[in-house]
Amino acid sequence: MLKIDNLQANVADKQILKGLSLTINPGEIHAIMGPNGAGKSTLGYTLGGRPGYEVTGGSVDFNGQDLLELEPHERAAAGLFLGFQYPVEIPGVSFVQFLREAANAQRKGRGEEPLSGGEFLKLAREKAGLLRMDMDMLKRPVNVGFSGGEKKRAEMVQMGILDPKLAILDETDSGLDIDALRICGEGINAIMRAPDKAVLLITHYQRLLDYVKPDFVHVLAAGRIVRSGGPELALQLEEEGYEAVVA
Ligand code: ADP
Ligand code: MG
Ligand code: MG
Repeated sequence: MLKIDNLQANVADKQILKGLSLTINPGEIHAIMGPNGAGKSTLGYTLGGRPGYEVTGGSVDFNGQDLLELEPHERAAAGLFLGFQYPVEIPGVSFVQFLREAANAQRKGRGEEPLSGGEFLKLAREKAGLLRMDMDMLKRPVNVGFSGGEKKRAEMVQMGILDPKLAILDETDSGLDIDALRICGEGINAIMRAPDKAVLLITHYQRLLDYVKPDFVHVLAAGRIVRSGGPELALQLEEEGYEAVVA
């Protein structure tokens, strides 16, 4: 599904990704862990096509397409979803309106008809229910005044509506209390655990992985994957710290 080969990328003229390679097959869940400043968010943003993240080498194939050639909206239409470490607030735009625009922009990119109001509401209710999110909450402006947990749950509702092939989730567990962590973990499983889908979870902690069991765990340090293993690697990292494992 995703084949990253020797990816190099600069942010503000500084090389952050220094030859990163990673292959993700359909049906797999991968976790990337690593110290602060390792380049984890940079990897997510580079794959999402965020302006200012300049690719200087390497290649990324996404389901047979050259991902790096696509505009960000084309990447979304192709089935890529990026969940942000820090979801943005958009005063003046309600979450339902935002979700409907996003869903229909994605459908347009695929040459599909837009959802009718009724179709959209049915879909939104279903996904909001998965994340135990009240529809009234989604009538409020995007993320404005939402708690950390509500922002992440709302983002998972968005993921459910967009129904991506590959979700890259950057520290979805940050700022979550224990209940929100479980709800988000179960939401990720309900939406993304399928033979034709895959997830790349970026996380500092084992706790999200208790709910969303990864098939592979990778350590990203100084812009490269320096170690890969199974779920036991996350436990070892938690126990011994990055320095001991990476050294
Ligand atoms: P992580 O998510 O692993 O904590 P990041 O990808 O956010 O790491 O950051 C990797 C490195 O890139 C850090 O040294 C950070 O300071 C630097 N960096 C990220 N964004 C910018 C930016 N906009 N301008 C300059 N440096 C940046
Ligand atoms: Mg960080
Ligand atoms: Mg980060």
